[in-house]
Amino acid sequence: VDTIVLDKTGTLTLGNPVVSAVHPSPGVDERSVVEAAAIVERPSEHPLAKAVLQKAAELSLPIVEPERFDSTPGKGVTGLAGGEEIIVGNREFLEGRGFHLNGLAANAGASSQVIVARGGQLLGALQIQDVLRPESVAAVAELRKMGLRTILLTGDAEAIAREVGEQLGMDEVEAGLLPDEKLARINALLKQGKTVAMVGDGVNDAPALAQANVGIAMGSGTDVARESANVVLLGNDLLKLVETLKIARRCKHIIMQNFAGT
Ligand code: ADP
Ligand code: MG
Repeated sequence: VDTIVLDKTGTLTLGNPVVSAVHPSPGVDERSVVEAAAIVERPSEHPLAKAVLQKAAELSLPIVEPERFDSTPGKGVTGLAGGEEIIVGNREFLEGRGFHLNGLAANAGASSQVIVARGGQLLGALQIQDVLRPESVAAVAELRKMGLRTILLTGDAEAIAREVGEQLGMDEVEAGLLPDEKLARINALLKQGKTVAMVGDGVNDAPALAQANVGIAMGSGTDVARESANVVLLGNDLLKLVETLKIARRCKHIIMQNFAGT
């Protein structure tokens, strides 16, 4: 392996993010924004969904089950409640459905923005803050020391991706990627003759995990990520991954020495 591709949310970060701010549209109250979001996030497996549900619980909001639920990996979720369509996701996802987001606060710093609409009305936005896994810094540093090229691929926004990439000292960062685009990035590396390991946790990582020379899923990852990977990390410890790669290298070295000796 000479190149290691890492997903951000749930892989380099803990993936149990919290809602750090709620920005309702004028005339809308905070509770309505959180309630609408929580209804369609209820069936979702996404790390951001957990944050929304936790916030709803803190506000003691009763959350009904959506009548319909649909998820677009890397973008957001939609559902139906009380005859109204609810749409929750990133800017692109809502703009693609005809919403104008000019009045909305810009995404601030290292937090993900999730926008909420219900019944054709823009209700507001939630800022959701995720935290780096404590071992991410050391793990990326070790990978780089081993001479591996480290690449961050994420479906999240550019600003947060850049910030995380800088904090970890990663070689390259690419943001705003859909599942197919993560896959295309892996294919491009393979075509260049690279040997690629990919680490991820989400539904949106599954195609890329299956395509990489070595696909590694986080233990806490979604079922489809775990099924698409060659290796599942027990306990989510990225430093264990580093150790495993080192052992694999040493084994290869010994095998080569044995060949040379015969
Ligand atoms: P990563 O590639 O870093 O794991 P994802 O591709 O899973 O990130 O998510 C990218 C972005 O898509 C999120 O930051 C969010 O804005 C939006 N998104 C994806 N799934 C959801 C969801 N269930 N609820 C709200 N937003 C979502
Ligand atoms: Mg992820």
